[in-house]
Amino acid sequence: MPHFPLSGLEPLAAHSIYCIGRNYAEHARELNNPIPESPVVFTKPTASLLASGGTVLIPDSTDDVHHETELVVAIGTGGKHIPVAEAWTHVAGLAVGLDMTARDVQSRLKEKSHPWDLAKGLDTFAPIGNFVPVAAFPNPDAIGLTLHVNGQLRQQGSTADMLHPVPALIAYLSRHFTLYPGDLIFTGTPAGVARVLPGDRLEARLAEGVSALAVSVARA
Ligand code: ZN
Repeated sequence: MPHFPLSGLEPLAAHSIYCIGRNYAEHARELNNPIPESPVVFTKPTASLLASGGTVLIPDSTDDVHHETELVVAIGTGGKHIPVAEAWTHVAGLAVGLDMTARDVQSRLKEKSHPWDLAKGLDTFAPIGNFVPVAAFPNPDAIGLTLHVNGQLRQQGSTADMLHPVPALIAYLSRHFTLYPGDLIFTGTPAGVARVLPGDRLEARLAEGVSALAVSVARA
């Protein structure tokens, strides 16, 4: 796993993985979370990455793993203190991804005000599809996201509904962290998150399949 190639952007490989929580108002509401003023930021280890075609593994620490369908941004040109107006020029490409979340574990961690790593950073908990250059999207600020589980539509949203859009996220993250080529940003999920079960097949799409991923689910 030290070198996870970014499909569509090779030879770029994954570097750090930043994730944003509660970036869609409807999703924050469905989990009874307050809508944050600043982006909620967490990270995942690169060992959580999974290429399309792989299998999400549910470990015995959880009985309630949820899918969260998200736009994933790959940084192409790094930097610190990147201005909002220049942020898109730092992006190498966009992909669809799943921020798999052990909701039962996360609830217990939240009660104790502990970090979320054991709920969100597990092996195979970050499937990503192929990356596509920003120029391929007619409007990169309004990209459709869908997730089908066993052929049934489960999540449908648009990145136009983000509370903190991609340029604002890049500006915010780069205030705190130096961004590097290959850094990934999971940008939050729209509403409709739900449990997955062993045997499920998940198919996530960005812009009707410009970027896509398909993974299965099994017990670890
Ligand atoms: Zn998420």
